[in-house]
Amino acid sequence: MKAAVFREHDKDPEKVVKIEDIEVPKLKPDEVLIKVEAASYNYNDLWAIWGRPIKVPMPHISGTDISGIVVELGEQVTSLAKGDRVVSHGNLSCRICSMCTSGREYDCEKRLVWGFQTGPLWGGYCQYAHLPEVNVAKINDNISFEDAAAISMVGMTSWHMLVDRARIKPGQTVLIMGGTSGVGMVGIQIAKLYDCTVIASAGNQQKMDK
Ligand SMILES: [Zn+2]
Repeated sequence: MKAAVFREHDKDPEKVVKIEDIEVPKLKPDEVLIKVEAASYNYNDLWAIWGRPIKVPMPHISGTDISGIVVELGEQVTSLAKGDRVVSHGNLSCRICSMCTSGREYDCEKRLVWGFQTGPLWGGYCQYAHLPEVNVAKINDNISFEDAAAISMVGMTSWHMLVDRARIKPGQTVLIMGGTSGVGMVGIQIAKLYDCTVIASAGNQQKMDK
């Protein structure tokens, strides 16, 4: 399969990211294989190429947010079927520690961001991506692959901030800093979903107009 691979860090992605032919991954029993239809680009994907703030496993495939179609199932998988339209949930956590079992998997000491801290050659910018069943969610037919891939990481981040931590309530006023960022744009929509009044900031007029 084709994959976007880099083998060294550089400030300029075009210098180091190359399309390579690599083996289609072999599945673990709890994993599914996804034919990737769309992927989004997050800041951690750029940080990985830069090698800042952390070095990443090499050779590296970036990509935390993907959507696509399930094409193969590990033998323990029960909740998904071939042909399902799915989106990735890129937080890999242990699921058995006290943080994970109390619903705070983001605070799991073993947490890894898929496509950023995983590897070698384990991320979403490839034709066939593999993930544990629990890190894959089905998407409705009326949601495009592009929309699904765009919302995964920023959507979870925004939801966690506004709903889980800030516990927004209808009628409140919510200030969204950086309203045109990925997290900000989803945050505006979540706050409106909760019937809040939204005030958003942005860095220039073009962003303000948007
Ligand atoms: Zn854990």
